[in-house]
Amino acid sequence: MRRFSFLPARGLPRLIPRATPSARFSTAAPRQLMATAGFTETQLTVREGVSQICARFPNSYWRELDQQEPDPADFHAALARDGWLGIALPESLGGSGLGIAEATIMMQTIAESGAGMAGAQSIHANVYATQPLARFGSPAQLRSTIPHIISGKWRVCFGVTEPNSGLDTLRLATAAVKQPDGSYRVSGQKIWITCAQVAAKMILLARTTPLEEVQKPSEGLSLFCIDLDRSRPGLEMRRIKKMGGRAVDANEVFFDNYSIPAESLVGTEGQGFKIILHGMNAERCLLAGEALGLGYAALGKAAAYARERTVFQRPIGQNQGIAHPLADAYMRLEAAKLATYHAARLYDQSRTDPAIRQDEVGVACNSAKYLAAEAAFQACERAVLTHGGMGYALEYDVERYFRECLVPRIAPVSREMILNYISERVLHLPRSY
Ligand SMILES: Cc1cc2nc3c(=O)[nH]c(=O)nc-3n(C[C@H](O)[C@H](O)[C@H](O)COP(=O)(O)OP(=O)(O)OC[C@H]3O[C@@H](n4cnc5c(N)ncnc54)[C@H](O)[C@@H]3O)c2cc1C
Repeated sequence: MRRFSFLPARGLPRLIPRATPSARFSTAAPRQLMATAGFTETQLTVREGVSQICARFPNSYWRELDQQEPDPADFHAALARDGWLGIALPESLGGSGLGIAEATIMMQTIAESGAGMAGAQSIHANVYATQPLARFGSPAQLRSTIPHIISGKWRVCFGVTEPNSGLDTLRLATAAVKQPDGSYRVSGQKIWITCAQVAAKMILLARTTPLEEVQKPSEGLSLFCIDLDRSRPGLEMRRIKKMGGRAVDANEVFFDNYSIPAESLVGTEGQGFKIILHGMNAERCLLAGEALGLGYAALGKAAAYARERTVFQRPIGQNQGIAHPLADAYMRLEAAKLATYHAARLYDQSRTDPAIRQDEVGVACNSAKYLAAEAAFQACERAVLTHGGMGYALEYDVERYFRECLVPRIAPVSREMILNYISERVLHLPRSY
């Protein structure tokens, strides 16, 4: 039987080699830790194809980039060259037309290869920030942007967070003021914008009607797909020094009467928050996948070290004080994996099945992100401790994973806000803030 012969001609990026059954997951050891039963053939094919690219960018590559902080442009280019950046974009626009479940396994595979959050974040916005654009953008907007994003010519960043509003997104203050000729002038400040230094486009959320003039805070926000043209007046950015994922830049971005054309608007003016919600649930799934990848990578390294390291004349893994926390971490990752792919499947099915309510999708995606982030944190922390002093050394990589695994706990929404959300929406408890 030819394993992947059922695949539609345009259903997956080109250049996925046709694998024989015995060739499945043949490229790197840590991936074998995760049980793959229950995944679809397409998802496993994605995992195999992405693994083959990641195998060319080993831990030593990411270790070096983490120290020197150059952008992983060649990694991004390698994924773009084989068509992976369009994994969840429509075939009519040159994408593969797959779902967020497949995109999630792609992001998990990247993180799990040792690329961690740095590798994942180098393409993260290309995958999820383009979802609202693909769904609500005008035909002309899509034709002029999406093919360049898929080909890798244009990198993308996502501009939502602001220093003075934080998680209270509806109070963001960046304003896009309409001009008589229909263009807008943007003024305000964004913070923590990943890849802004290398991005050609920003998916920007800004206020087009002042907060005091709308009935509900969720009204009056608009979504834009804008050029980041550093040669034009009114745009500045400053890189933030950070704890982990250091190859990928994070930035403060300052707009001061920065002019953008009318055609930058995505969808209807004032409906930006509703539009962006479509991307937010997708992003929760991708982040969950990235967290899982880091967790499995760390756990794989910890188990290997525990088998090999001998102290008191026996492998340290023979001590239950070492073995049990790792076994526990494995089960937590597996449980979070089930929650993650359940959420991604619901997200994908809800596009065609009106019986699946968006609040159900939101609960599933938020829960998955929370559980995966916590499971990853436990796995990474235990991996460092299993390595003893070597857990603190760069060359064993687990310290890098540990630094990076804090990101899924903080972003794009914190643990506390997910707990608030579940308390209110599922348990019907009074809102606490
Ligand atoms: C590495 C990294 C990359 C990022 N990339 C991007 C990006 O590309 N684009 C982008 O737009 N943003 C990005 N972010 C921003 C990220 O989404 C925010 O940091 C995150 O949403 C938290 O917002 P904040 O930092 O303002 O925290 P704050 O809102 O200041 O919250 C601080 C703390 O207070 C808690 N808290 C606040 N209110 C409550 C409450 N009511 N109840 C309980 N606890 C509460 C929070 O849970 C949190 O622990 C990134 C962040 C990081 C760290």
